[in-house]
Amino acid sequence: MLRQLKKLDSSVADDTKLQPFFQTSSDAYVQSDRDRELLERSLELTSRELTERNRELQSQLAEQERTKEALLESHSLLHASLESMHDGLLVLDMNMGVRLYNPMFCSIFEIPDRPEKLKSLDDIFSNVGVRIQEPGKLQRALRESAHSPEQHWEFEIRLGGHRFIEAYSSPQLFGQEIVGQVWSFRDVSDLRLKEEESRHRAYHDLLTGLPNRRLLMMRLNQALEKGLEEGKKTAVLFFDLDGFKDVNDYLGHGTGDALLKDVAHRLEQQMPHGTLLCRHGGDEFVAVMERQEDESAAIEFANQVLDAFARPFQLANDELFMTSSIGLALGPEHGDDADKLISSADIAMYRAKDRGKNGYAMFSSELDNHSVHRLKIRSQINIALEKNQFELFFQPKVDLKTGRIMGAEALIRWRVADGEHRSPLEFIPIAEENGQIIPISQWLIRQCCHHLNNWAGFMPKDFVLALNISAKHFQRGALQADLTSALEETGADADKLEFEVTETAIMDDVELAVLTLKELSRIGIRTAIDDFGTGYSSLSYLRRLPIEILKIDKSFVDEILISDEDRTLVKGIIDMVHALGIEVVAEGVENRDMADLLRTMNCDLVQGYHYCPPVPEAEFIELLKANKTYPV
Ligand code: C2E
Ligand code: CA
Ligand code: CA
Repeated sequence: MLRQLKKLDSSVADDTKLQPFFQTSSDAYVQSDRDRELLERSLELTSRELTERNRELQSQLAEQERTKEALLESHSLLHASLESMHDGLLVLDMNMGVRLYNPMFCSIFEIPDRPEKLKSLDDIFSNVGVRIQEPGKLQRALRESAHSPEQHWEFEIRLGGHRFIEAYSSPQLFGQEIVGQVWSFRDVSDLRLKEEESRHRAYHDLLTGLPNRRLLMMRLNQALEKGLEEGKKTAVLFFDLDGFKDVNDYLGHGTGDALLKDVAHRLEQQMPHGTLLCRHGGDEFVAVMERQEDESAAIEFANQVLDAFARPFQLANDELFMTSSIGLALGPEHGDDADKLISSADIAMYRAKDRGKNGYAMFSSELDNHSVHRLKIRSQINIALEKNQFELFFQPKVDLKTGRIMGAEALIRWRVADGEHRSPLEFIPIAEENGQIIPISQWLIRQCCHHLNNWAGFMPKDFVLALNISAKHFQRGALQADLTSALEETGADADKLEFEVTETAIMDDVELAVLTLKELSRIGIRTAIDDFGTGYSSLSYLRRLPIEILKIDKSFVDEILISDEDRTLVKGIIDMVHALGIEVVAEGVENRDMADLLRTMNCDLVQGYHYCPPVPEAEFIELLKANKTYPV
């Protein structure tokens, strides 16, 4: 301003060049005009300047207003974020003073709503309303975070028994400088619960809630190792319910499941403290007793279980009696790993079943190879049934006079590997011992019905398919029901079926046999006496029985070429049986001489390697389709 005034002054001074023309005018006027002009100009300049300044100030004010608003907005944003965060937040300064925390932080640690702020760590810990397990760990971490601010912390703490909180920290930076620690706390209880559940599911049985086989194997191996170190024994008890399959089959799986739960519960009630009880699968349970001196505690437990099973099980509508067979084995002598020890207890369990069930048996190394093999076959039969490892071969029955195929005998095979079969002579007697023959027989009947349906288009009109019915199934009285349901299910023709039953099956209970056979014949089934000559060989009872066919056992047929006596016997049998209107089949015909001799004796049908061994279905179908006739 001063500079401008001086400038103005000098420009007016320049006008003094005009002074000679106004010499007469009063100096004062001149001076006054000048002053006025000067003032006016200077006022004009000042007001312009002021307006300018004012505008500048206005814009600065507006800028400040905007900054203030932005600050308010970001504060409200921060506040809202902190309020709504699912993580608890706590910011500490370098002196462990509390800078900031949010409501979730208070909620996680159950810090009550208070008007006064939490200012220090002591404030926080004196207000925490929940039990922190290992509180020292948290306090130490919070304090140490102030001493080593560049460090990141991450750990988990447990609250009140079953809540899990994850804690993280990272340094708070202001420019390049660390000014505090930002702690966040997340409630991961749901996640941990789900993890726990899936871990539980992997090691427990869904139905009973007991540990499963996987956990059993782990724990048993650990127990055996520990036992070895401590010089103690590990006892294993293998429980198998007697006849559980019947419960499932006749009362349904729902009842079966309910029973298994009750059984698990009853076993748990009896077991000594420290015993591990597992569901091994199906109706099998295994208990492990660690640190044993000998088998006495295991035997006591077994006896208690047997007693407890004497009471019936209460099911929805019924009371049900269920017994258990128990196998005992002691590690390490009966097995030094879980697999071997359980397998020994399993074998012992079969021994208990063999002795009449509802009891226990101890494994002993004297269980010879033969009985172990038998026990193993038994357990494998169940698997074979489930996995459909049985199949049927067919051996033609040939008319001795015409050489035509009149029928076939279905013979069961157990496929153990590709193209490899286990003989029925090996497993049928074992299956008969413990009732497994019944499901096998049911399968067999249904299978034969299916085959008959499949062959309908090309088998001879009077073709008959024979199947072997075990004495056990025959005596049980359920045969008719099984047969009827198979016929209904498949729609097969009953008079295309023939049952081969041994003499012994009939002689065990002749009255029942007569009734059963009459019933079968009413349905349209023909019956053959199998293996005739090996049992009672009494012709007198044949009169009373409604049978159509008699099969002379291979052992007699074998001898007819060399023994006059057997030849006479066979001829006598054929004649007498014919007189009763019964057809005769000779089995095991291995050569032409045998066939020729039997023809002279008027034998009706023959079966044997001379004609054809038992063959798989595909091969047998080829014979039928080719209308195969053997030379006579
Ligand atoms: P089986 O009923 O006496 O059957 C005849 C057996 O003699 C069959 O043995 C057959 O393969 C065999 N065979 C046939 N022709 C000859 C021959 O010319 N020479 C010789 N050495 N043997 C011959 P496989 O098939 O091993 O059956 C043995 C036994 O197993 C049968 O004796 C029968 O008692 C039983 N079996 C077979 N399949 C079944 C079945 O489906 N159910 C039942 N319950 N038992 C069956
Ligand atoms: Ca037979
Ligand atoms: Ca036979």
